[in-house]
Amino acid sequence: MENITHVFFDLDNTLWDYRRNAKITLVKLYEEFQVKEKFGYSFDEFYPFYYESNEQLWADYRDGKVTKDELRTRRFPEAFANLGIPNAEFALDYERRFVDEVTLSNYVVEGAEEILEYLKDKYSLHILSNGFEEVTHDKINKSIVKNYIQTITTAEGAGAPKPNPKAFQVSIEKAGAKPDESIYIGDDWIADVIGATRFGMKAIFFNPLNENHLWIEEVPVIDNLVELKNYL
Ligand SMILES: [Mg+2]
Repeated sequence: MENITHVFFDLDNTLWDYRRNAKITLVKLYEEFQVKEKFGYSFDEFYPFYYESNEQLWADYRDGKVTKDELRTRRFPEAFANLGIPNAEFALDYERRFVDEVTLSNYVVEGAEEILEYLKDKYSLHILSNGFEEVTHDKINKSIVKNYIQTITTAEGAGAPKPNPKAFQVSIEKAGAKPDESIYIGDDWIADVIGATRFGMKAIFFNPLNENHLWIEEVPVIDNLVELKNYL
C-alpha cells in the first residue's frame, strides 16, 4: 500500500498469543486451586465457560458497557458459576493470580517474529491495545515484541478503548504519525477494523479462527501474519 509509514498492531491474539499463554496459566491455577478435586469438574469442562465469559466481558468493555474493575470482578465468578460452582469464593483470588502470572508465558502468534523482522526496516511499528496498562507493558517487555516496537498505547492510558477514536488519536499522536499514512492490523472486527477505518486509517483484518465477519471492500483479510507481505 502506498504512502504508509506507520504500522499499528493490536497486541492480544494478533502478536501476543493470548489464547495460548492464558491457557497455560489457567491450567496451572486450576491445579493449584484443586478445582477438580474439590468440585469434580475437569479443566476441559471449565475452559469453554471461561472463554465465553472472558470474550463477552472484553466485548462489553470495548463497547463501554462494563469497566475494567467490573470485568475483573466478574470474569472468573461467572465462568465458575456457569460451570456449576455458584458463589465460588476462590474466584477473585484466581483472577488476581491470573493477572499476575499470565505473562510468565510469552508465546507470540505464529509468524509474528518473521513479519516484525520483515517490517521493522520499512516502517515505524506501534502497539495500540485495549489491554490493561501494566499487563500490556509486561507482555511486550517479556516477549520478542519489545525488539520491534516504537510506541505503546493502551485503552487505560488513552482514557478510552478501541473503537473509540480517542484511543487512536492518543496512539497516533504518541507515534508522531498521521491517519492517512498509517495502517492498523488487528483481530477484532469492531475494535480494530471499524475503529481504525472510521478514524481514517487503513486496516487489515487478521482472522486466524476464520470467524464470520462483515466485509469492507478496501480492508484485506488474512489468516496468517506472513500474508502481510502481500500488502506491506
Ligand atoms: Mg486482539
